[in-house]
Amino acid sequence: MSYSLTTVLYIAASVLFILSLGGLSNQETARRGNMFGIVGMILAILATMLGQNMAGLANMSGTGYAILGAAVVPGAIIGAVLAARVAMTSMPELVAILHSFVGLAAVLVGVASFLDPNAHHAGAEAIIHNVEVYVGVFIGAITFTGSVIAFLKLRGSMSGNPIILPARHMLNLILVLVCCYFGYAFVSDPANGMQPLLIMIGIACFLGIHMVVAIGGADMPVVVSMLNSYSGWAAAAAGFMLSNDLLLVTGALVGSSGAILSYIMCKAMNRSFISVIAGGFGSDGGAAKGGGPKVEGEMKEIELDETVELLKAAKNIVVVPGYGLARAQAQHTLAEVTKILRKKGKNFRFAIHPVAGRLPGHMNVLLAEANVPYDIVLEMEEINEDFPETDVVLVIGANDIVNPSALTDPNSPIAGMPVLEVWKATDVIVMKRGRGTGYAGIQNPLFVGDNTRMLFGNASKSVADILGKLTG
Ligand code: NDP
Repeated sequence: MSYSLTTVLYIAASVLFILSLGGLSNQETARRGNMFGIVGMILAILATMLGQNMAGLANMSGTGYAILGAAVVPGAIIGAVLAARVAMTSMPELVAILHSFVGLAAVLVGVASFLDPNAHHAGAEAIIHNVEVYVGVFIGAITFTGSVIAFLKLRGSMSGNPIILPARHMLNLILVLVCCYFGYAFVSDPANGMQPLLIMIGIACFLGIHMVVAIGGADMPVVVSMLNSYSGWAAAAAGFMLSNDLLLVTGALVGSSGAILSYIMCKAMNRSFISVIAGGFGSDGGAAKGGGPKVEGEMKEIELDETVELLKAAKNIVVVPGYGLARAQAQHTLAEVTKILRKKGKNFRFAIHPVAGRLPGHMNVLLAEANVPYDIVLEMEEINEDFPETDVVLVIGANDIVNPSALTDPNSPIAGMPVLEVWKATDVIVMKRGRGTGYAGIQNPLFVGDNTRMLFGNASKSVADILGKLTG
């Protein structure tokens, strides 16, 4: 394939990726956005397989395509099987581990590019190339180990509580300065560059671990989007090293969109963007730490029949879905309940907190899957003021996102995080299995509030029972 055709395909793929991102920013256009992304990726793979580099490799050794096949085919099969099997609730872990692969790939590409016997860089070009290698490997190593820790935390294999070393900011700063020193040694004497490169990889791997273990509980959403951004920059760095424009463009798109998402999440959680990028830097007062004070008071239970009566009598109903709804996979039954109550003339709406569930947009995906109309799914800032006029709020499998202590208790681990102010409604019914805490591991005073009653049980059964009573 000629260079010009490869370039055209690369440009087409880049445009499709940009359209894909544009589409994914809105629920109505998300499916189309996904399609653009898939077509763009197919074009990118085709252009790479048929491009000059591969053709050269195939001619040279005759085994280029065999090597590519041996890597791509099993990789594609493993990826497809894993993606098809993964439960929606395990998506965040999958995303985290995929980010770690991108980081590891950037490290391997960097080292391979440094060792490449066919690379002939001289003068300023050599310096630029070596800086690219060093920076790319640095970002890649941080992304790799940071994402592995995020994976373990999200999977529950490691405690969500932050591990804070003494003088950690100073330690991070010193380690970054040491990496800069070795970077100078690497670039000024590339002939002996392997040693500083390896030392820096070790330090950067430690930095990745250190930055993510320091972030706890409810702040994890920002970590997920931040590592997404890091993985994009790692891919962009690999694009520089391989002189591959498409990888560069795609990496920059992922890096910058991940950074924008991190910023949005930080704003939603009232956390400082800089503090999170730097691994909790300066966030000692705000980062979620787990624990928190004990809540005094008794939870009051409600029976199914009374719940249904309240729903039948209400005019304005708001449902707050949380992680438990995803665990229970009750979205389809809930969509049926929605249809019936809307047919009865109720003003029935959903309130979505930006960090509900375990993935940005988790609840939106869940409700879209069950074909809940988009116009009754409202973001927190669109609906928070309506709670005083709401007759019944159904909190289904949500906990941290409706915890009033975020607003009332400055010592709460989630202090300062905006929450859905459901307690202002006339009646609040909380559906959960037991008295367990949410992801941040803290008590919730909402559950003992005067106007709150608990409908205990798995949400899949409780929602199905409500549907049964409404249709029966
Ligand atoms: P929480 O994790 O705070 O609470 C979920 C509640 O659901 C639990 O208290 C649990 O109580 C209940 N539950 C679990 N399974 C079921 C079930 N089958 N049926 C009924 N109830 C069930 O979830 P929220 O959505 O309120 O808040 C999200 C939390 O996750 C925040 O702290 C956020 O920071 C964090 N997070 C969010 C990410 C994101 O990107 N959105 C990423 C990483 C973390 P019980 O056991 O008693 O049933």
